[in-house]
Amino acid sequence: MPALTTSDVLARLPLRDDLRGRTPYGAPQLDVAVRLNTNENSYDVPEEVVEALVAAVREEAAGLNRYPDREFTALRTDLAEYLGHELTPGHVWAGNGSNEVLQHVVQAFGGAGRTALGFTPAYSMHPIISTGGGTAWVDGLRGTGSDPFELTVEHAVEQVQLHRPDVVFLCSPNNPTGTALGLDVVEAVYEASAGMVVVDEAYAEFARPGTPSALTLLPGRERLVVSRTMSKAFALAGARLGYLAADPAVCDALRLVRMPYHLSSLTQAAARAALWHADVLLSTVEAIKAQRDRIVAGLAALDLRPVPSDANFVLFGGLADEKVVWRGLLSRAVLVRDVGIAHHLRVTAGTRDETTAFLDALARTLEDLR
Ligand code: PMP
Repeated sequence: MPALTTSDVLARLPLRDDLRGRTPYGAPQLDVAVRLNTNENSYDVPEEVVEALVAAVREEAAGLNRYPDREFTALRTDLAEYLGHELTPGHVWAGNGSNEVLQHVVQAFGGAGRTALGFTPAYSMHPIISTGGGTAWVDGLRGTGSDPFELTVEHAVEQVQLHRPDVVFLCSPNNPTGTALGLDVVEAVYEASAGMVVVDEAYAEFARPGTPSALTLLPGRERLVVSRTMSKAFALAGARLGYLAADPAVCDALRLVRMPYHLSSLTQAAARAALWHADVLLSTVEAIKAQRDRIVAGLAALDLRPVPSDANFVLFGGLADEKVVWRGLLSRAVLVRDVGIAHHLRVTAGTRDETTAFLDALARTLEDLR
């Protein structure tokens, strides 16, 4: 008898019916020279912050026989201070990446018989987190006649009124398109909805000047949640620390679903040490924004169509076949992201050298295809 393949065994397992046939999140992790596909910060953690992190973690080591502070109170205090906007530790919640805090929101406010709505294309984990938690996902639409990625107040409100979701995901700046949302959309969606409204601000620190955060809307809106992460601007993707700000009652709701001690004492200590050096870590943000703007200009010069970006990445259209271009770039040791939008690719803004490598590789790839 031929040996069973893993997929044969998977088909026989008593897996939930609604998970059958689904694909897991899977941005390729390839060992190439220029990795611009997951919107990480390309700059290494500076030596002085490395030393502070190691010292903070070292101090925790002997106490690892005990569970960590379940309430991560000191970390919440530091995060509230970083966020400002008169937020207190009671307004702040954290997890192992913002993916986990979003999962907590879905576990508490979604679930069987409930619905989550997002406006596609947006962050691909929003539907995966929702359906993984048994919440029905509604793929909302973006786009007006002239701009396929725009989300207008009228269009967003109409879809909220139609689907009456228990959780609405807004993403600003939006991944993968890059553009921030006006706060008028957030306010209108909040008014139109009876459910939780999550504004995923993973890339907020990279926004162009004059782009306000939804944090300014929190007072008086107890169904509003604003999520952030240390994975992008803080250059700490490997540490896994995401957080959110919301009414303290929302944080109490999230306590009902979190695992006890979900944030290890090492993670708490490392995140605090990083926050104490926020100015050093965030000093790469302006350099990254400059490379982002250089990418936008370089793509336009190649007759491609970059989407305006408030993030550390650029989505661009105008490619005859994005899959062929993706492979051409990879053959030149540049890894970008095919986000599944026809004729488009997404590239992360990294260092100056990485931008040069990307623009050169792209020019040569397009030349070969001519
Ligand atoms: N939100 C958005 C919009 C993202 O792009 C990402 C990461 N790519 C995340 C959340 C999750 O990041 P993390 O779990 O590392 O905080």
